[in-house]
Amino acid sequence: MEVFTTPAPLRRHMEQFRGAAPVVLVPTMGALHEGHLELVRKGAEMGPVVVSIFVNPTQFGPGEDFEKYPRDLESDLEMLRPLGVEAVFVPSVSEVYGTGEEGVTIQPGDRARGLCGERRPGHFAGVLTVVARLFGMVRPDVAVFGRKDAQQCLVIKQMVNNLHLPVKLVDIPTVREPDGLAMSSRNRYLNDEQRQRATCLIAALRAGEQLLHAGVFDARELRRTMWDILAEGSDEPDYAEVVCVDTFTQPDLITGNTLLAVAARVGPARLIDNMVFRISDHAVSPGCLLG
Ligand code: AMP
Repeated sequence: MEVFTTPAPLRRHMEQFRGAAPVVLVPTMGALHEGHLELVRKGAEMGPVVVSIFVNPTQFGPGEDFEKYPRDLESDLEMLRPLGVEAVFVPSVSEVYGTGEEGVTIQPGDRARGLCGERRPGHFAGVLTVVARLFGMVRPDVAVFGRKDAQQCLVIKQMVNNLHLPVKLVDIPTVREPDGLAMSSRNRYLNDEQRQRATCLIAALRAGEQLLHAGVFDARELRRTMWDILAEGSDEPDYAEVVCVDTFTQPDLITGNTLLAVAARVGPARLIDNMVFRISDHAVSPGCLLG
């Protein structure tokens, strides 16, 4: 496993694999946990893996946690070493964005409307800009993302489709703690009491799931139920939404591939989570996001 800070030597190193197997990129912001490692393992089944570690300043808004976002490169590298990762790409901010230049940015399409796109103005422009730059620097054939960031997956898919980028996107199911809390680098911000209350996100989603299985397809009822659970357990519920994955609209009557998405602040951490279902002829089955 070699560590690179600039793109040209990284690409030269990966040249030996081109043509034989797809080069797989797993973009991360570091502070790695089992969720990230699962992305890497799934990626490694497809081809040689490049993991990027870059805390991207442009996706954080004013007053968000860019400065205090956990950074622990040594421990990240230790976690990656046993997984057979081919290369780790750890660029500096100036390597990605240049110095003293106002560079090109990418504005997201309609998949960035609502949910986190509405609550975090500029966030998805920052995400797309860094993902596009990473794609240019690494030139992967495949890029792996976590379903935990469902809207991020949809926003990136729209960019790849609209710009005809030659990258196949793969999404991986959310990896959870034993009590259901979605793993997140931001869980490190929680004390014991907050960690306990953070389970309100998965509790809200499970309540939504139960309503679907009980044949309740009225989106307002799901939103209300999920919101009430967030309101009780969190310090500040942010949203509890039901979204049609294919049209990215918020239907009154739930049908087709449907995203249940929640966000709430618990202590110092803003947490998000989601589940995807497919509803067809009143039958509920697991849905797909990038499909
Ligand atoms: P981050 O470092 O938070 O930017 O995440 C890097 C990638 O890991 C993104 O594609 C995330 O969606 C994914 N990811 C983060 N947490 C999880 C999780 N609990 N399960 C699966 N993927 C995750």
